[in-house]
Amino acid sequence: MSVQQASLRETIADQTSEQFIPDRSSFPRRTAAVAAAAATEAEEVDLNARFPQKAIDTARQQRLLGVQIPQQFGGDGASMFDITDMCYALGRACSSTAMIFAMHQTKIACLVRHGAGSRYHEALMRRVASEQMLLASSTTEGQNGGNIRFSTAAVERADAEISLVRNATVISYGAQADGIVTVARRASDAAGSDQVLLAITKDDYTLEKSLGWETLGMRGTCSAGFELKFKGSSEQIFPEGYDKIHAQTMTPVAHLCWSSAWAGIAAAAVERAQLFIRKAARGAGGQMPPGAAHFTAAKMTLAKLRAVITSTLDTYAAHEHDERALSSLDFQSQVNLLKVEASELAVETVMSAMRACGLSGYRNDGDFSVGRHLRDVLSAPIMINNDRILANIATASLMSAVPATLRD
Ligand SMILES: Cc1cc2nc3c(=O)[nH]c(=O)nc-3n(C[C@H](O)[C@H](O)[C@H](O)COP(=O)(O)OP(=O)(O)OC[C@H]3O[C@@H](n4cnc5c(N)ncnc54)[C@H](O)[C@@H]3O)c2cc1C
Repeated sequence: MSVQQASLRETIADQTSEQFIPDRSSFPRRTAAVAAAAATEAEEVDLNARFPQKAIDTARQQRLLGVQIPQQFGGDGASMFDITDMCYALGRACSSTAMIFAMHQTKIACLVRHGAGSRYHEALMRRVASEQMLLASSTTEGQNGGNIRFSTAAVERADAEISLVRNATVISYGAQADGIVTVARRASDAAGSDQVLLAITKDDYTLEKSLGWETLGMRGTCSAGFELKFKGSSEQIFPEGYDKIHAQTMTPVAHLCWSSAWAGIAAAAVERAQLFIRKAARGAGGQMPPGAAHFTAAKMTLAKLRAVITSTLDTYAAHEHDERALSSLDFQSQVNLLKVEASELAVETVMSAMRACGLSGYRNDGDFSVGRHLRDVLSAPIMINNDRILANIATASLMSAVPATLRD
């Protein structure tokens, strides 16, 4: 940790001891401050594939990393409506910042919804709020790709002490995080699908880099591969099995937050296309340029994208505390299809924006460039591959009835 980061943490800790008063009406202002910081470094973050330090430091200063933690544990108790709005706003400024925020908030949601009542997890919630800790995610393992519901590495137990050694092929901002939420096989004699979730902090694990992150887009997420070695207490395992956490929280929240971040990227590209078309029309005495139809198409797919996210968000919020509804086939299909649809629509929107701008959009320089947005958004369909998701839900889709009315 740099001297600057250490002093930032101290300032945050001081502010906390001065009794922090949550104020939800401040969310837009606090998010705008982070987005402004993110926008200033977005190009450099992409160019150098470096972590968006300024944006995340600002998120810490604005206390957004702990915003979802309930007020009783020192946070603001932000809802999923608030969090997804934040992901969208950050996506408009810097894709990597938005995705880091989205992944962090997904881990926080697991902590909030499945950690209550557990001494260790409640203490961690307090720490996240007071120290503004950044949590990363480790689900990908070895050559297993996006098959999250299967783990190879198992939790080894020696009395109350446990350990885990994991070939974590991708951990976004692993080197910068203060903690990791990871899946693992419950025990060395358990089946690969019998998984637990653990929340571990930097003082009880080491990471040895095994793979770099030299990618087309989302370069600032710094999603390198590591050998993860952890030693700690069995208290760090979430009390509920991962199968429940996966269905009720991890998948819905990840898909809602990721989709909102992608929608933000798409919106940023549409905004650039709008500026381009306006400028071209002004230059031609009010005559619309030939690319205008692509701009209209971009706005149309952005509207669809927002609609699909908000409709799933409404369903999720309506059943947030209803375990049965969240685990139902219909809801699971809806959240899985959200990821597939949102990622495809986001790519389509940015492509249309690019075509609306023509060469000005294709260039990497200039005010109308959408190259970075396109490279970043192309990560969406492969971040848990859409093919894998569609194949996994094929049977469930076959079992659910075709809706008889529009609002079924
Ligand atoms: C920006 C970004 C950040 C990420 N951050 C993290 C992180 O922080 N932590 C983490 O653990 N992981 C992270 N991941 C990894 C992610 O969770 C998935 O593991 C990864 O995207 C899967 O990649 P894959 O293509 O290698 O694997 P696979 O999902 O195995 O896909 C490989 C190929 O197989 C095909 N395929 C796979 N299954 C099927 C099927 N059933 N039917 C048909 N075709 C199939 C796919 O179409 C694809 O072509 C991140 C990924 C991205 C893009």
